[in-house]
Amino acid sequence: MNNITTYDKPREECGVFGIYSKDIKKDILKTLNYALYSLQHRGQESAGITISNYKHLFTYKAMGLVSDLFTSNIPKDTEGNIAIGHVRYSTTGASKIENAQPIENLFRLGQIAIAHNGNLTNAEELRYELEEGGATFNATSDTEVIIKLIARKTVSNFIEGIKESVNIIKGAFALVIVVDGKLIGVRDPYGIRPLCLGTNSNGDYFLASESCALDAVGSKFVRDIEAGEMVIIDDEGVKSFKYAKEDVKHCPCAFEHIYFARPESNIDGINVYNVRFQTGVLLARQNKVDADIVIGVQDSGTIAALGFSQESGIPYSIGLVKNRYIGRTFIMPEQSTREETVKLKFNPLKHLIDGKRVILIDDSLVRGTTSRILIDIVRRAGAKEVHFRSASPVIKSPCYYGVDISSKKELIGAKLSVEEIRKEINADTLEYLTIEDMLEALGNKNYCIGCFNGSYPTEIPKKVPIDKTC
Ligand code: SF4
Repeated sequence: MNNITTYDKPREECGVFGIYSKDIKKDILKTLNYALYSLQHRGQESAGITISNYKHLFTYKAMGLVSDLFTSNIPKDTEGNIAIGHVRYSTTGASKIENAQPIENLFRLGQIAIAHNGNLTNAEELRYELEEGGATFNATSDTEVIIKLIARKTVSNFIEGIKESVNIIKGAFALVIVVDGKLIGVRDPYGIRPLCLGTNSNGDYFLASESCALDAVGSKFVRDIEAGEMVIIDDEGVKSFKYAKEDVKHCPCAFEHIYFARPESNIDGINVYNVRFQTGVLLARQNKVDADIVIGVQDSGTIAALGFSQESGIPYSIGLVKNRYIGRTFIMPEQSTREETVKLKFNPLKHLIDGKRVILIDDSLVRGTTSRILIDIVRRAGAKEVHFRSASPVIKSPCYYGVDISSKKELIGAKLSVEEIRKEINADTLEYLTIEDMLEALGNKNYCIGCFNGSYPTEIPKKVPIDKTC
């Protein structure tokens, strides 16, 4: 058997979720289940939960999907008043149960569990220092570095230990922590990875990577956690601290809106669907092309295609039907090729495409292999012309903040000019959204666009860790 990535896209990082209730909740498993299902798009390699019942923490983890976790050996009568949950994506080498989250530890002062979305840029140095100081590690994730650092920095008070630790770690982190009868949320000083707060009519509080998870559990969105902010939630409500000693500059990941997040989510005050639609509008304005139909590559390319169609007046057509039962990584028979895999995933509606001049819109172009195969599929369905449009700018550089764009070697945009890429993917014309237009679609706020322009909000590590984790 052969594990072929069906789609050459950057892969999501991870998703985190937290619940705080004053009272023991009998349905806490159901709430966690709904929340993690709604965050499943952010990681499909492992899932886990930690539940506190006032006295003890209980952690359950499983490789695979959220459904694998909830059909594992979690006692059905598990109840509690605080919980955190995690879905994980990692690079292949680090995909093992030891690195699944939450990570739980027993310290002198009690139990703590932590779930993390993002990537630390100084994890290797910190791990080395901690090992020099006698710490031992069970796995390779940078989240374990955070928990060991908290152990080292906690003298008499967990909160002070956490505050000190989050001032030492660098990079991207949205953390949910359960400790000492409290739910804690932390967002890095640049707010690179998202985290938001919700509440319900019972006075329960929730933390989530995306607002879609708040919707799933019937919670009202309260606000985004700010860059460099730590919230502590207990029986007295929500306390907020600006923990960051360094300069705080809100600089969230632009790719969350372009590709990762679900369209119904609102992140940092901006709706994801609206951004994607606007990228299509702006692409249509960039360079006019005569065509008969606009097709979007599902899922996130579809919304940009709708925007393009509205702006250009060229009719939108489904064109390609996606097989939804093929996951992001799909186990194919040994002899299968990427081409066969993509063809299995996208089947053309030939009668809609035959004889047409097609504009094909995808959210991004990473290695270029899938784009070339998709264009071939559309041509074989009878298209007279195929004009390819990317609803994000040329990806030229790696991501150090928890997104699987690890090497320039993998990026067609780092190696070839746009004209060379056009020839490589066999498009009649090729256009990318400009960086300026992407920022306009994002409301002209400050964003991390490091993978597009090579300029990052933080110092970057000298080398990308082998086990990139999230
Ligand atoms: S480098 Fe790209 S993918 Fe990584 S956080 Fe910045 S915008 Fe997002």
